Amino acid sequence: MADPLIFERSVPGRRGYRLPPSDTPSRPPADMLPADQQRATPPQWPEVAEFDVVRHYTRLSQLNFSVDTHFYPLGSCTMKYNPKVNERVAALPGFAWIHPLQPASQVQGVLELLHGLEQLLCAITGMAAFTLQPAAGAQGELTGLKIVAAYHKRKRRTRSTILIPDSAHGTNPASAALSGFSVVQLKSGPDGLIDLKEFKSKLNRDVAALMLTNPNTLGLFEYNIKTIAALLHEQDALVYMDGANMNALLGISRPGDMGVDLLQLNLHKTFSTPHGGGGPGAGPVGVAKALEDFLPVPRVRKRGTRFAWETRSRATVGRVHGWFGNIGVLVRAYAYIRALGREGLMRASETAIINANYLKAKLQETYPVPFHQSCLHEFVASAKPLKAHGVTAGDVAKRLLDYGFYAPTVYFPLIVEEALMIEPTETESKETLDQFIEALLRIAEEAKTNPELVRRAPQRMPVDRLDEVKAAREPNLRWMKPAQSIVHSR
Ligand SMILES: *Cc1c(COP(=O)(O)O)cnc(C)c1O
Repeated sequence: MADPLIFERSVPGRRGYRLPPSDTPSRPPADMLPADQQRATPPQWPEVAEFDVVRHYTRLSQLNFSVDTHFYPLGSCTMKYNPKVNERVAALPGFAWIHPLQPASQVQGVLELLHGLEQLLCAITGMAAFTLQPAAGAQGELTGLKIVAAYHKRKRRTRSTILIPDSAHGTNPASAALSGFSVVQLKSGPDGLIDLKEFKSKLNRDVAALMLTNPNTLGLFEYNIKTIAALLHEQDALVYMDGANMNALLGISRPGDMGVDLLQLNLHKTFSTPHGGGGPGAGPVGVAKALEDFLPVPRVRKRGTRFAWETRSRATVGRVHGWFGNIGVLVRAYAYIRALGREGLMRASETAIINANYLKAKLQETYPVPFHQSCLHEFVASAKPLKAHGVTAGDVAKRLLDYGFYAPTVYFPLIVEEALMIEPTETESKETLDQFIEALLRIAEEAKTNPELVRRAPQRMPVDRLDEVKAAREPNLRWMKPAQSIVHSR
């Protein structure tokens, strides 16, 4: 690492801030905290000045890639620029400083915003109603599947199967299994789409729902969606859409019009919340009219000009989040949607699609794209031709870091060998896209002329190749002072 640890910067007696002498005893009396629970020695905190701390952490933060510093073509994740004004709005005291226990009469503004956001999401997706509670896409999926189960239960029948295409995000089968369903995988056709013949052969009276992603994870639109939905509805099975990536559909087409019965959106992807590193997020679930009663409670209701929480509902699947969801993310999404409006959202989607197709056209000769349909907001190319030189998709991803680009998603979806899943989003300029193309073409050239260089990348990063298995299975999270034994508590 380029920077020493904060512990290594420690100088005995150095302080950032000195508190006045304490007027309470430094050790709590034994009747407050038993003596054997008290530590023998003070914790070995680093002793540093405020300035040391500021420099240290600012430098560390600059070792990272971020959307604010680098192009981030991370397929499926929609890492787009998040307008800073949304941060300002989310930080307004009227949103940031309220408490979920405050009575509705004191927080009419935020209730109006939540109600308004539900309506905007209904307008964007063509669904009848939304819950804003789920805190992530995966939690939205779980909520949706609970609704699927409740729907069939109300009809007094057992349906135990969820159909899922083999190109699906891993959370889909995981959510289905967690909800007690068994998963039947649908093999994609040669065009990367659901194969109607395969689908019909797996459709029967035990199917509770199909979970599909549209556009799918290959960035392709499932143009048979209406036929597929009609066939499912004939069996009274439901269509669940994984709407994590709405970036290609805004203002252009609505899942509700395609026969989708319920879906989750990932506000942190499409609707401008900085994400990555695990959160925070929001995965609202939208449903068709027939499923509205199953939504989690409480739900925000408009009564005349006032807003209130409605906590009772006979058919609800119950609460899926403490309080009302991740309000900060919801405020950002509302601000983003209102600022862009229908025209702006549509332009965002169109630009995302054009950007992806531009990259695809320029790259596919070198990195073949196994499907011929033009793509939507993302596409999946393959680094397979470089394998002849001993270079893999993972190597290409590492080498891209040296060129100053974050790496695309690699090895997903699983149905494309040496997959590079590229999603440029609408926020990148043509200049950036051209530099990215040049870097990828140059890496392909390097793979031929100097494969070792690519295999050993990155060379310009603070750390080179990590042991990915050990880093995940045996993380070393604790620093120990060299040559000094650790003081264990007694
Ligand atoms: C990101 C993503 C998910 C999971 O969303 P989380 O918010 O990470 O739980 C599910 N499906 C697809 C297609 C995704 O891209």
